[in-house]
Amino acid sequence: DLLVVGSANADLVIGVERRPGPGETVLGSDLAVHPGGKGGNQAVAAARLGARTALLARVGDDAHGRLLLDAQRAAGVDTAGVLRGGAPTGVALITVDPSGDNSIVVSPGANARLSPRDVRDAADLLRSARVVSAQLEIPLETVAEVVRTTAPGTRFVLNPSPPVELPAGILAACDPLILNEHEARVVLEGPAGDGRTDGERTGGGPVGDGRTGGGPVGDDPREWARALLALGPRSVVITLGARGALVADGVTTELVEPVRVRAVDTTGAGDAFTAALAWRLGTGAGLADAARYAARVGAAAVTREGAQASFPTAAEVAALGGA
Ligand code: ADP
Repeated sequence: DLLVVGSANADLVIGVERRPGPGETVLGSDLAVHPGGKGGNQAVAAARLGARTALLARVGDDAHGRLLLDAQRAAGVDTAGVLRGGAPTGVALITVDPSGDNSIVVSPGANARLSPRDVRDAADLLRSARVVSAQLEIPLETVAEVVRTTAPGTRFVLNPSPPVELPAGILAACDPLILNEHEARVVLEGPAGDGRTDGERTGGGPVGDGRTGGGPVGDDPREWARALLALGPRSVVITLGARGALVADGVTTELVEPVRVRAVDTTGAGDAFTAALAWRLGTGAGLADAARYAARVGAAAVTREGAQASFPTAAEVAALGGA
């Protein structure tokens, strides 16, 4: 019922005392390999909640590709739509220093080869889904083809990550466009919104020249939601980390309260939130109700280490307490 179209990466993680400079070699910890990528993460998150979930993605014909497929299948994801070959499986080379800061090099690999033609070849899969959920770790033209191929009655959910300025044709299909604060800034302000952290940004910067990126919009998420809706999506969800989420559909704007938890590792929280929201929408839930459930799933995900390893089952979400 839920089809996720997106990336699958192997995350290769090594702990280091400090990062090597140019020409230098340092020794690190044992290598840890984790299944990742926003598409793979979302599919696993939804399936673990009990959603009937399929993944349309491309991996290499290699050991990392097999590892990623195994992780999807173990979670119960239908992997018939996962294509193989064309390039090595996407990888993220991650070094983590003692303060917990990451340095990451991503090789998109096979993700960059998931093509509009692959989407057309998977038209049956796309048309049989109630909800199609995409992100931007695959080519933008592939996402545009997803929008064109999806049946009119199918709901399209987009998390524009990594954020770019979006063409009007994609924006108009989003119901909702779902993004965190950093992504909202880039979509609204253009690449100038791409500050290192919210705290470092003092505002302004040059205005983007795309169809989105209309310039700085201040610090109020309600204002961002209004500005984002003006770009054409039918609805918007802005995730606010420990502050919850804001949902807006042009008629109402509502703050979804966070679930209070002890956060251990926020990796993958947005992917878990988006997957849960997309699934609930497919079961007929309204946007605010779906977001309230998704906030519980996101909160559960931050109580455990890792991305896919941290995603909760429906029973674990229920056990969080509250509604
Ligand atoms: P991203 O991972 O994309 O940056 P967020 O950090 O906004 O996304 O997290 C997504 C959602 O997960 C939030 O809207 C919230 O509902 C939930 N969440 C994230 N961090 C916390 C936290 N520390 N406490 C409770 N809920 C959280």
